Amino acid sequence: MRPAAAGTNFINIMKTLFLILSLLLGSYSVATFADTTEHTQASLHYQAYTVPKNGSLSRALSDMNAPILWSYKIAKLKDGKKFINLKAGDTLKFGYDTQGHLKEIRYPKSRSLIYVLEIADNQPQSISKIQKEIERHTITTGGTIKDSLYLSGKKAGLSDRSIMKLADLFSWEIDFIRQLRPGDTFKVIYQQKYIDGQYIGDGDILAAEITTHDGKHHKAFLLTDKQGKKVGYYDEKGHNLRKAFLRNPVDYVRITSRFQPRRYHPVLHKWKAHHGVDYAGPIGTPIHVTGNGKITRRGWSRSYGRVIYVQHGRKYMTVYAHMSRFGKYKKGQWVKQGDIIGYIGMTGWATGPHLHYEFRINGHHVDPLKVKFPDASPVPKKYREQFKKIVRIMDSQLQRIPAKPAAWVEGFE
Ligand SMILES: [Zn+2]
Repeated sequence: MRPAAAGTNFINIMKTLFLILSLLLGSYSVATFADTTEHTQASLHYQAYTVPKNGSLSRALSDMNAPILWSYKIAKLKDGKKFINLKAGDTLKFGYDTQGHLKEIRYPKSRSLIYVLEIADNQPQSISKIQKEIERHTITTGGTIKDSLYLSGKKAGLSDRSIMKLADLFSWEIDFIRQLRPGDTFKVIYQQKYIDGQYIGDGDILAAEITTHDGKHHKAFLLTDKQGKKVGYYDEKGHNLRKAFLRNPVDYVRITSRFQPRRYHPVLHKWKAHHGVDYAGPIGTPIHVTGNGKITRRGWSRSYGRVIYVQHGRKYMTVYAHMSRFGKYKKGQWVKQGDIIGYIGMTGWATGPHLHYEFRINGHHVDPLKVKFPDASPVPKKYREQFKKIVRIMDSQLQRIPAKPAAWVEGFE
């Protein structure tokens, strides 16, 4: 017997077992509610159904005692796919008339978009869309950092997401753990979103300023195009707040090994993935850090030898291994693109002098020679005049926001 056939049988058995298990364990919830936010039909009585894990439209229909065969009819309707591609956790609202007949099924795809399936003569008829307008209010706030940006931001009324966004904006130039101190101030102009007068969350940050104790003003301004699409965040001079990377960390290079999912390791003598690029070069060749960032680790590893890890913004990390010696920068220090952080060597598992260089995005290894770097170009020419206007208006608004008095920081020295 071919092993492939045995494998397929095994998978099918497992699938069946899994199906039985999920039928036994899978739960769904039904809730009756009075809908105040949606303009639902007053004459109908609604029951909410939460799609369970491995749920489906036919399962939902069956759970709610509606004909399972409807799912085929619904699939053929315009926008029927929306009802077919349900995800666990989605909510369906079943609307019944006073006689208990199902008249409609509502599927709120988001807070501003609702699909309504109309049922008449005991058959699905059509699907309509209710698109709600999102109102955006511009809010200004500010504060003095007392213990952390997070707690002070909360006190100033910012949502968790907005605080994350604020930290993200400046993550290439401010070390939020070491550089921010009690007494530093922040100012934010941002949007809050409302539907039918109800707050649904924070929108974009339009402008922000963080002033650190060394007297530096870090500013950010959002540039949008005429259609309202985000172009990017820039400082008052139009420099991109995201910083670019150098493609190669050494000047003179001879690439000896590229990024490969699998290769035969010359020292370990076994197949192993190569998650970086090797640059061969004489011992002592300077290694330049490829982007602005912070040294998060500088030390020794059995395989990497002398190694340095540099964090860039929130997402990016670069790794430099097998160094003969380190540069002058220590763990926790901030380095600028091009700074010499060490010298080529052959410490750790290396057959000859080379730099092993890695590029990681959110912890995943990517090919440093192929990765698309974040766009770090300044304000595009065609937007320069518009951007100047934005800076003029937003900056004067920022200056009007009071950063709370220094009395806040009492007790912190
Ligand atoms: Zn390598």
